[in-house]
Amino acid sequence: MRTYPLGEGDRLVSFLDRHYGRIRGVARGARLPKSRFGSTLEMLAYIRIWYFERETRELVRINQSELIESFMDVQRDYTSSVALALISEITDAVLGEREAADPQFRLILLTARAIRANGPSQVVLAYFCLWTARLGGWLGPLDRCSRCGKTLHPETGFHAPGFAELYCANCRDDWMRPISKEALSVGKTALSGTLDRLLKDNPPIGPARETLSFALDILEHHIERKLISRKTFETGESGLGEI
Ligand SMILES: [Zn+2]
Repeated sequence: MRTYPLGEGDRLVSFLDRHYGRIRGVARGARLPKSRFGSTLEMLAYIRIWYFERETRELVRINQSELIESFMDVQRDYTSSVALALISEITDAVLGEREAADPQFRLILLTARAIRANGPSQVVLAYFCLWTARLGGWLGPLDRCSRCGKTLHPETGFHAPGFAELYCANCRDDWMRPISKEALSVGKTALSGTLDRLLKDNPPIGPARETLSFALDILEHHIERKLISRKTFETGESGLGEI
């Protein structure tokens, strides 16, 4: 998912093992020319990896890796590369170390492939963020007020950064922002079906952006900090106009 330079020519690598969860390890010599790791340790690369645990150390030793699918081509486009960085930052932040995370693994692969096919769309990222929040157990119902239980449809809901819940017009606090029923409908479609179906629905960009922003607020609430790549993505995205 991410790597950091370490020592003279090594890399500290945070990777997601689909069976054993998020693990950190050292790839010796990975930054040297002609390293045996080649470009296998790039962001979101899907690889086969051989590593060894050492009882006394927290970091594993990465011995070898083999590329299955690279996303270097996707990173050539600036906004796509920021979208991939957002996915990797979120995953790194929300997953505990060594907690099995096969659904999250599959979600990442599906999302990265969808960005390759469709570009860094709000819809694809909204799907990723909502499902990450759902898999983590941090997403409340999208059709009911979390305080009084009243059905939100056909009204809008209200929420605020720092809150994972949606409230109705009676229960809202003054400073909460409305979220449109179109955005909630995008959210419901995302959670009840596949990404393909959501993309076929082709939801308008406004509601998709609202849904993404709502899901990102929930994730930031959970990790108790702002996501660095969120700001970059939102700035870059608005500068480019239509995506
Ligand atoms: Zn209410």
